[in-house]
Amino acid sequence: MVYAPVRPDRSLPPVLVNLFSDTQTRPSAAMKDAMMLAEVGDEQNGDDPGVNALCDRMAALTGKESAVFLPTGTMCNQIALLVHTRRGDEILAHESSHIVGNEGGAPGALAGSVVLGLRGARGMFDSATMTAALREKRRNAPPQTLVAVEQTTNAGGGAVWPLDLLSDVLASAHRLGMKTHMDGARLMNAAVAAGISAGAFAEHCDSVWLDFTKGLGAPVGAVLCGSAAFIDQAWRWKQRLGGAMRQAGICAAACLYALDHHVDRLAEDHANARTLAAGLAEVPGLAVEEPETNLVFFDTRASGLTADTLAARVRREGLSVSTVGTYRVRACTHLDVDAAGVDTAVQIIAGAIRGA
Ligand SMILES: *Cc1c(COP(=O)(O)O)cnc(C)c1O
Repeated sequence: MVYAPVRPDRSLPPVLVNLFSDTQTRPSAAMKDAMMLAEVGDEQNGDDPGVNALCDRMAALTGKESAVFLPTGTMCNQIALLVHTRRGDEILAHESSHIVGNEGGAPGALAGSVVLGLRGARGMFDSATMTAALREKRRNAPPQTLVAVEQTTNAGGGAVWPLDLLSDVLASAHRLGMKTHMDGARLMNAAVAAGISAGAFAEHCDSVWLDFTKGLGAPVGAVLCGSAAFIDQAWRWKQRLGGAMRQAGICAAACLYALDHHVDRLAEDHANARTLAAGLAEVPGLAVEEPETNLVFFDTRASGLTADTLAARVRREGLSVSTVGTYRVRACTHLDVDAAGVDTAVQIIAGAIRGA
């Protein structure tokens, strides 16, 4: 088994259109300028002005008392689980969620909690499904202490939890005595797509975080928000895990730049995703899921090609996409892909299917 990333295959042509992930966005020249000009200090000592400004803005944006800057979204999720749960606790989350399948088993490895995967369309579940998963409070049952949701849902198709469904699930969790956590890796995509503020979506969350390295286009950084008491505990774990930094303002400057310049434009990514989905829907052999934000998923089964075969073929034509199952492909729009790139992508995929 190879655990380290595989280096790019130099025999392949350069990537012309990168729909692999919105994590692969490059900092723009203006973002780099903002980083160059950043005033910095010792972050773990509370002295970095850029980090402090970013945390204040994120706390205000999500309607929470306080916030902490962390290197990655995964660390936001895991620190939240470390604060909210104890060893042996059970977390209720969608079975397709990032904490279940994409964080190396970290809930078990770090907090020592287990995740009970709930089912539901597009990465979401309702309060009836959640309530049905509750265990009798017996000595031999794991304590169920936390409900975690993703906004938007990643493997669920980039779907946006409708506010009433989300509020019902999270308020019910609170009434049942559980804490609530939102993995808001793409929270601003949800806010822009729905025209609902991040704060409204996060209202019933004890913790919520935003990733700056997805569609917001920053090179490093995520911010975890919650009550002052929660963030105090989170800081202890940040220190323990080696996430306490030094002149991190150079990274926070990119995040502040992204908040100012890259939020409203997420609407362009969503429009490009709709155009991409509409184009792919015309290609025989593909079944395309209706995108709600910047993630487009499609099924290749009827084309006779597996997702990996299609991805390898289009890569030879300069298009990069990711695969998330034998027949499921994910194509992601972001600030480094324009409408012309989307048209090229449709042509390359259609050509690869015809060649089959
Ligand atoms: C990307 C992502 C994460 C992890 O974020 P990193 O910054 O890559 O660690 C967590 N949850 C969801 C839903 C994501 O899409």
